[in-house]
Amino acid sequence: MTRHHPESLSLMDYSAGNLSEPYALCIRLHLDECSLCRSRVDTLDSLGAVMMEQQPKVSVSESMFDSILAKIDSLPSPQPVAKPVPRASVLQKLLGDDINNLPWKRQLGDVSVLDITEKFPGQNEQVVLQKLVSGGKAPAHTHRGTETTIVLQGAFADQNGVFNQWDFVVLTDQDEHKPVAVGCEDCITLSVLSAPVKLTGTFTRMLNPFIS
Ligand SMILES: [Zn+2]
Repeated sequence: MTRHHPESLSLMDYSAGNLSEPYALCIRLHLDECSLCRSRVDTLDSLGAVMMEQQPKVSVSESMFDSILAKIDSLPSPQPVAKPVPRASVLQKLLGDDINNLPWKRQLGDVSVLDITEKFPGQNEQVVLQKLVSGGKAPAHTHRGTETTIVLQGAFADQNGVFNQWDFVVLTDQDEHKPVAVGCEDCITLSVLSAPVKLTGTFTRMLNPFIS
């Protein structure tokens, strides 16, 4: 059972459809496992629907109402709602192979990485898979910007506790940690890194050739 959950604000953004694809994926993977967050999202969804209904009502005459009903009757019956795609299929489609057989790049020591940002065309965030071998330690490090992580396999521990499969964690540039992979499996995480647009000197000149 997962013990580390997304913040309520993130769940609200998820429910409202305001999250970019990589962030929504992290929440989606967590929701599949976590009945607590699922019920929160269900409540938020219903709340959203009620709020939509509270929109100012447009007055409709009786004859217009009848013609609207007739139009609705003439429409083909709605298709049954599609079942959500199983999590395993979502991951298979994203990764294309068993997660342990991916072309991992050894970064240093016990850590391997694989940048999968290209799987999310048109999105601003960097998306990275990270693997820490079973029992392995990552060097102490801080984070650039905000890093949202979901554990896909195994577990890791740091000073904030143990993070198991499908646990959710958000780290900022204020957080320094030294994760250790616990358990007998390699720990694999999916991280979404916020990537603020930095204007480099060249880019600034390109934008405004008259300044420089
Ligand atoms: Zn949860």
